[in-house]
Amino acid sequence: MGKTIIISNRLPVQLQIDQGEITAIPSVGGLATGMKSVHSGGDSLWIGWSGLTDEEIPDELVSKIDKALAEHGSSQVNLTEDEIDGYYYGFSNRTVWPLFHYFMEYTEFEQEFWDAYKAVNRKFADAILAEAEDDDTIWVHDYQLMLVPQMVREEKPDISIGFFLHIPFPSYEIFRTIPWREELLEGLLGSDLIGFHTYDYERHFLSSVRRLLGLEVSFNDISLDHRIIKVDSFPMGIDYKKFSEAAKKNEESSEKGKSELQKRLDTHKKADPEAKFFLSIDRLDYSKGIAKRIYAFEYFLNKYPEYKEKVRLIVLAVPSRSNVPQYQLLKREVDELVGRINGEFSTVSWTPIWYFYRSMPFENLIDLYTSSDIAWLTPLRDGMNLVAKEYIATRTDQTGVLILSEMAGSANEMNESLLINPNNFEQIADALHTAINMPVEEQQERNAPMQKRLERYNVEKWANDFMNSLVDQKRKDYSHI
Ligand code: UDP
Repeated sequence: MGKTIIISNRLPVQLQIDQGEITAIPSVGGLATGMKSVHSGGDSLWIGWSGLTDEEIPDELVSKIDKALAEHGSSQVNLTEDEIDGYYYGFSNRTVWPLFHYFMEYTEFEQEFWDAYKAVNRKFADAILAEAEDDDTIWVHDYQLMLVPQMVREEKPDISIGFFLHIPFPSYEIFRTIPWREELLEGLLGSDLIGFHTYDYERHFLSSVRRLLGLEVSFNDISLDHRIIKVDSFPMGIDYKKFSEAAKKNEESSEKGKSELQKRLDTHKKADPEAKFFLSIDRLDYSKGIAKRIYAFEYFLNKYPEYKEKVRLIVLAVPSRSNVPQYQLLKREVDELVGRINGEFSTVSWTPIWYFYRSMPFENLIDLYTSSDIAWLTPLRDGMNLVAKEYIATRTDQTGVLILSEMAGSANEMNESLLINPNNFEQIADALHTAINMPVEEQQERNAPMQKRLERYNVEKWANDFMNSLVDQKRKDYSHI
């Protein structure tokens, strides 16, 4: 067997340039962790964009950067500012992202974006082709690179290619609105294996393939040009151990070892042991339903006024894609909403919403997870939602209540949580009421099976399952078709 080549928009390393010196810092995100077993040793390569445009990289540093990346088994695709504007901020984040999350009104169909997307996908495919040999295995990640599988297949018909989509695949009725819908499907069908988070996304994809391309689909196999393409679901997990162990360490730490944030949280808890913390953590993205959640909080306070001064909503909104106009509008909306509700309900001793617009270091995330009685996550659409899984993983004594939107992919695996429709304020207010009053035994009964599942189907298992399935698929003999 040859080497493994992983391709994603961003490399799993951050580059820092300081006075002509380059440092490459490995990322600690879920994907990078999950891929560790796939991307290790000398027989694998990760190809992607470094996060710096050509304009930001001085000529004399190019070879130094390549060397620094090579030390992490990585190789960069160079992209100009214009390419990033059209391919990433344009087609990926103003066409595919909103549409695949059912935000039709935000979706822009711009020929220029599409042209840039094709050109940059071609660049990624060429970067792969420069390295790939026939017995290599290629794993392409996510919605920014949907044309890559077919581009590689054309040049290397026998190579093994897997593709995983990290966001939802929408229903046919939504997908069919894209002017370039056939090209996108054909791009994906260059793969041998196409993976989704859930069975629903898989079904939506198969239905589009059947109806738009008229291909033969049998169960989850698609026949095309003497090849069989397998479509399957692989729900992505988390690094369970990392979260549960960090939570344990947190609990055992002495007063001196605690973070400033933890000390503050403890002070508030001590002042009123009956008070409850609701936790909301997301990137500031319209798909996450942050504004709706805050409106629902207002609805709750009006419906159950006895909880005024007794509950506090902690909103952590992580800055994201802030040069896309919709994200700027959302930022303004959330800022104003938090201001209005705090203005309306605050008392001298109580501020109902604590709002953080920033990203927090891992230790502080753990502080928030372990200190919050209720995690309240209500995306309007979400491919998976790992925050829900991370919250449960940190609950070492198995207390805590998860209120989760049924529109999140993770809802499929977290049936024991309180599942809600993010548009139903009445249901949400009642779920919050139930959560506040849920007996500890019931909390534990609900969380125990979820923890077990999360521990077992961790992110490493996800990556291995996908790779094993890809290898199996390649081994099958389709010479008869
Ligand atoms: N996260 C983070 N810093 C923060 C807040 C969150 O790194 O300040 C992480 C969080 O731990 C989780 C990820 O961001 O792993 C968010 O993943 P999720 O699937 O919930 O949503 P996405 O942002 O991928 O749509």
